[in-house]
Amino acid sequence: MSQLTRISRFGFVNAYLVAEDDGLTLIDTMLPRSAKPIDEAARRLDAPIVRIVLTHAHGDHIGSLDALAAAPADLEVLISARDARLLRKDLSLDPGEPQAEIGGWLPGAETRPSRTLAPGQRVGSLEVVDAKGHTPGQIALLDARDGTLICGDAYSTLGGVETAARRNPRFPLLARATWHRPTALETARALRALDPTRLAPGHGKVVEAPGPAMDAAIARAS
Ligand SMILES: [Zn+2]
Repeated sequence: MSQLTRISRFGFVNAYLVAEDDGLTLIDTMLPRSAKPIDEAARRLDAPIVRIVLTHAHGDHIGSLDALAAAPADLEVLISARDARLLRKDLSLDPGEPQAEIGGWLPGAETRPSRTLAPGQRVGSLEVVDAKGHTPGQIALLDARDGTLICGDAYSTLGGVETAARRNPRFPLLARATWHRPTALETARALRALDPTRLAPGHGKVVEAPGPAMDAAIARAS
């Protein structure tokens, strides 16, 4: 049985609860005013949320962070060091990065991360994977137990599986918010190479055995 529970608002924006021995890891916090459906989903699983991992700092992923983090004081909040800067509304670029304007909805948050994450680290059963391109510091999370890949906005499945590097006419918002498409395409390839058993995106349904659909999306974006 999968340790993954998808929470969705309007079938459009997702967060995920990942069951661990010490409680639940919440991946992303959806739009503002989503704390209630997230808390209700945790209650149905009869386990506490013990940490929040943010895939990236766009407003539809951090929207309910402040509301959720305000309640229990011992909740851990984790994000990449790079996107932690976006969380505090620092939109500066580093010299070695593509000098492209960071786009999308970047409202920032009051909450500061308890610590920052780097690719290769583990959060419970989840391996932190570099997924930059959509934002400069996006991360994906690979569940070592069953090969589920929670990919943030590196891929979306709303209106079909597509990378963040290519505009999907049925869901144009994602590519429009993407910082640097060539980097997003490199990330799409790297995530495909992980050969995930299941793709759990920020937008759209969870896709089982996503390899062929990921290959097709990469081909369309190349
Ligand atoms: Zn995004």
